[in-house]
Amino acid sequence: MGQMVQKKHLFAWKRIPLALQIALAIILAILVGNLLSTQAVTNTALISNLAIPCNLILKALRALATPLIMLAVLHAFLTADIPGRSGRRLTVLLLTNTTVAIFIGLLVANLLKPGSWGRISPPSGTEATGKTLDPWGLVQDIIPDSILKPLVDNNVIQLIFISLAFGIVLRALKAQQIEEGKTYYQAIEGVITILFEAVIRILHWIIALVPLAVFGIVAKTVALQGFAPFKSLGAFIIAVLLALSLQACYYLLRVKFGSWVTPKNFLAGGSEALLTAFSTASSTATTPITFEALLHKIGLRESSASLGALVGSNFNNDGTALYEAMSALFIAQVLGLHLSLPQQLIVVVTAIFASVGAAGIPEAGLVTMTLVFTSVGLPTEYIALLVTVDWFLDRCRTAINVMGDMTVSCLLDGKKRLIMNIDS
Ligand code: ASP
Repeated sequence: MGQMVQKKHLFAWKRIPLALQIALAIILAILVGNLLSTQAVTNTALISNLAIPCNLILKALRALATPLIMLAVLHAFLTADIPGRSGRRLTVLLLTNTTVAIFIGLLVANLLKPGSWGRISPPSGTEATGKTLDPWGLVQDIIPDSILKPLVDNNVIQLIFISLAFGIVLRALKAQQIEEGKTYYQAIEGVITILFEAVIRILHWIIALVPLAVFGIVAKTVALQGFAPFKSLGAFIIAVLLALSLQACYYLLRVKFGSWVTPKNFLAGGSEALLTAFSTASSTATTPITFEALLHKIGLRESSASLGALVGSNFNNDGTALYEAMSALFIAQVLGLHLSLPQQLIVVVTAIFASVGAAGIPEAGLVTMTLVFTSVGLPTEYIALLVTVDWFLDRCRTAINVMGDMTVSCLLDGKKRLIMNIDS
């Protein structure tokens, strides 16, 4: 009987949308944190234990990051339909857009310095190790000592290198076998697809626990440090929103000057996709709506719409890249550490790779962010602070991710409209 009541409660809780669960967790945590603050001096060790769920969740996310990136890249290469030369054009467009996004993020973070609005002392033993940029070393480091080492070390650059190599080869083998009427490739395609889905399902379990993590970390922070750390989070939210808006303006300018679509039609035709992205926080879930909007509401050729929204979207997460770079800088500022220009360049490179590897699902950016932090020696424990605002910022960056896919499609469609599509 008791078990049935428990099950019923669990079911009712699961039906509350994640964003609302997190909001409730924050309110409850503030109340509990305030109550506990009177014990801050006498019971510090006990109160610190409230951070345990958050630390465990971050550990699980770190562990999942590498298989997720590897499977996402392999899956995209094996299943996406990329016609000949367009592949190169697509790659150039994706790379430029992502690089611009990261530079915008770093510029805004450097100018506004949101992390210096409040200061938190670093936990003992978690200092930034101050890695500096060694371009030649970086190139040499791309090739791993062994195939499995990047998986063990969570080295994202080496991992993407290996995944791209295997992805390209498997794709070529698949094409060759199809030509020869062979079907061996189906076995490996099936395994990769099912493993990719399995990792995403496990990720969903972890995400379901995020409200618990938020509760613990907010209650602990309020109890031990009051509201000072959250003051700088407010500044961070403003800075991220500003940077994402600048990126949106950049897209509109590119669409205006690089395609036949007017920014007004772009926004009007794509509004449904952008709103869906905001409300689901998943660019993958939004994909069919993006594709449909590009094809019928804006009127692009089918090839351009599918390349940008179906193929590109697997690799193109400009909003995520911008956010990850800003987060690294923000946490460095919060800790009073200075990330030098060479270190920020490392952030640029790893954020590009990390965003390529981020899956189009809620909170995926948090997973790959751990890799950006590690690359410049920032303590990943501080990502816990960002978890509290991630449910909102995730939605905003997802909308920009989708807007990026739409922009790429428009640019691929060129400056001349295909008349046939007008009526379709
Ligand atoms: N939620 C984002 C997306 O689906 C990924 C991220 O977490 O940054 O595009």
